[in-house]
Amino acid sequence: MTTKLYDLDSYISEFDCKVLELYRSGEDLIVVTDRTAFFPEGGGQSSDIGFLGKSFVYDVQIECEKILHKVENYEENVHNFTVGGQIHGKINMKKRFSDMQQHSGEHIFSGIVHSMFGYDNVGFHLGKELVTLDFNGKFTKDEMRKVESLVNKAIWDNLEIKTFYPSKEELETINYRSKKEINEALRLVEIPGVDVCACCAPHVKRTGEIGIVEVVNFEKFKGGTRIYILCGERALCDIRQKLDENKKIGNILSAKETETAEMVERLKENNNRLSYELSRAKLEALKLRAEKEPPSKRIIVFCDLTDGDSIREYANILSEKAQDFAAVFGGSESSYKYVLITKTSFDINSLCKKMNAELLGRGGGRNGIVQGSVCAGENEIRKFFDE
Ligand SMILES: [Zn+2]
Repeated sequence: MTTKLYDLDSYISEFDCKVLELYRSGEDLIVVTDRTAFFPEGGGQSSDIGFLGKSFVYDVQIECEKILHKVENYEENVHNFTVGGQIHGKINMKKRFSDMQQHSGEHIFSGIVHSMFGYDNVGFHLGKELVTLDFNGKFTKDEMRKVESLVNKAIWDNLEIKTFYPSKEELETINYRSKKEINEALRLVEIPGVDVCACCAPHVKRTGEIGIVEVVNFEKFKGGTRIYILCGERALCDIRQKLDENKKIGNILSAKETETAEMVERLKENNNRLSYELSRAKLEALKLRAEKEPPSKRIIVFCDLTDGDSIREYANILSEKAQDFAAVFGGSESSYKYVLITKTSFDINSLCKKMNAELLGRGGGRNGIVQGSVCAGENEIRKFFDE
């Protein structure tokens, strides 16, 4: 059994310990010590990283109360340790503190959701970037905003976070949230008035250290909700990045940073109008061309029109000059929208069905007009009509 220094004090970043075991596992060197400040992976949180002596510890696992420090490359590192010897450990406190900010933030979040809605946290993952929380219930946008505000309020209240191992008798009197990962003596993490939860991970001492929580996104997930959050420095970086992006948009559009969406909306409307005007202009040009088209049995033309109304209008003009039908294909390369029109008793529907079947198309119609799309190039389409 390894003494868990992270359990006694989550701010211990350096420590001395005695090497108890050394062994090889694949290419790795496994180091077991009498005590450690390295938090092993567990409960949705990745392990600490850092150094034991000169060797870099890239992963830490717990097996039967024994904490295993994993060091890459057995041959190169085994000489840095002696069984029975002392070694100095140093964990990467930047990662640890960020993990603690996220994890403590998650407890406040889950505690507030539980007391407001009665939903349970049924999944938690503290990755390198985003933190995901899964709840067995649904939220509206306003509810999510409210939770986010209350979590931040609990952070600013700077509450003390207490961790303790209650006796069996005590435990019966305490109402706490519990997750499945608990496999040892039950350790509770209490944030007064906000949450009590069974948890083995290190936490910040006071909620104020979390700084801020940001709900990045939330979505439906397995009948409930998956929420993406960031706390502390990670939230600051994320918000900064988004502000910078918005500032860039503002500069490009010469718009105030609080009015970028409105400006983009206006641009989009303008773009739609221009696209429409362009397609009308193209149609006018095509109409002039259609006037010069000699009457024929079948008229088949290709153009770069993409809106259905214009294609239809063009086909309608051409159909006046076609004995059987006029077909207009608008698009490019291997994807075309089509409109086929006949002004006679020609069986346009059968032709349409056959064309859809051969050219991976879809669509149909009635009263002498069929329309749809095909996944084929101009050559293939022309070949179909030649046959
Ligand atoms: Zn926890």
